[in-house]
Amino acid sequence: MLSVVYRGKGDFALLEKPVPELLDEKDAIVRVTLSSICSSDLHIKHGSVPRAVPGITVGHEFVGVVEAVGRGVKKLTPGMRVAANVETFCGECFFCKRGFVNNCTDKNGGWALGCRIDGGQAPYVRVPFADNGLTPIPEGISDEKALFTGDILATGYWAAGLGEIQPADAVAVIGAGPTGMCTLMSCRLYSPALLIAIDTDEERLALAKEKGLADVTLNPLTCNVEKEVKALTEGRGADTVLEVAGAKSTFELAWRIARPNAVVCVVALYDEAQVLPLPDMYGKNLIFKTGGVDGNKCEEILRLIRAGRLDPSFLITHRYALKDAMAAYELFEGKRDGVIKVALVP
Ligand SMILES: [Zn+2]
Ligand SMILES: [Zn+2]
Repeated sequence: MLSVVYRGKGDFALLEKPVPELLDEKDAIVRVTLSSICSSDLHIKHGSVPRAVPGITVGHEFVGVVEAVGRGVKKLTPGMRVAANVETFCGECFFCKRGFVNNCTDKNGGWALGCRIDGGQAPYVRVPFADNGLTPIPEGISDEKALFTGDILATGYWAAGLGEIQPADAVAVIGAGPTGMCTLMSCRLYSPALLIAIDTDEERLALAKEKGLADVTLNPLTCNVEKEVKALTEGRGADTVLEVAGAKSTFELAWRIARPNAVVCVVALYDEAQVLPLPDMYGKNLIFKTGGVDGNKCEEILRLIRAGRLDPSFLITHRYALKDAMAAYELFEGKRDGVIKVALVP
């Protein structure tokens, strides 16, 4: 079967691989019906994910149909439509029991699919701990609506939950890329009175507004964001700030636009260490939370999609057949043609 394989730094290729088989009694084999390209796939390509194993098939955001299950799989049966979770977790260790599945201590725990073991940019994939790693898709939800359940939407949903948002709050989300958009739509679930999207890309800001995900959009290239946020909040600053962009400037912006005693969630992944100037912040009494999604809310997310409260399918701007995956990567990597997310059809 044709698979997108990471061969080494800067080197992705479409290669033939054997169809995977069950290796453990908790495994399932899934026939992939739709997968996506994620910016984390590019991080692997660029060699900035040291754990990524050369030779693996990439892809960690996908939906499909269960083909086969091991004897130890309880919740799934062949024929079920499922959404994959980016994280593999045992469900039984200290952290899993407390819902902190990102820190699962199992040797297979964490981001394994499409990083340390073969992932979903292929017609078939083996999923370990399948009862945790796969969530049945309720009837009436299309593949396109369900595609992001286990990765970017799980991240946005988790981030919004961390933010301790109260009804009528003012919430600022920094970064209106795919994960930022998912964060914005998840913040809406908490009924903030003011939802502010911040990004340097006018097209994305316009889309956030058009989709009703932001009440106000601010572009740091064309305005003083700190001043604007204060003006919008009677001089206080945002009650919750979610930093989903991942640059030095956005890290600083996050705490600057937060009001005293606000919750600041740092969800983004940074290339380098960031500095908290504590003397300057003294007395602001901020609550900082840092990220690494605990992706164990897929069932909730799918219920909200079914109810029409969440719908990230508009993020799919381009669709390619898996055999044309290299062209899809070129488009995604080059940010050409207004691309937000690319879906690959095996
Ligand atoms: Zn991802
Ligand atoms: Zn665990």
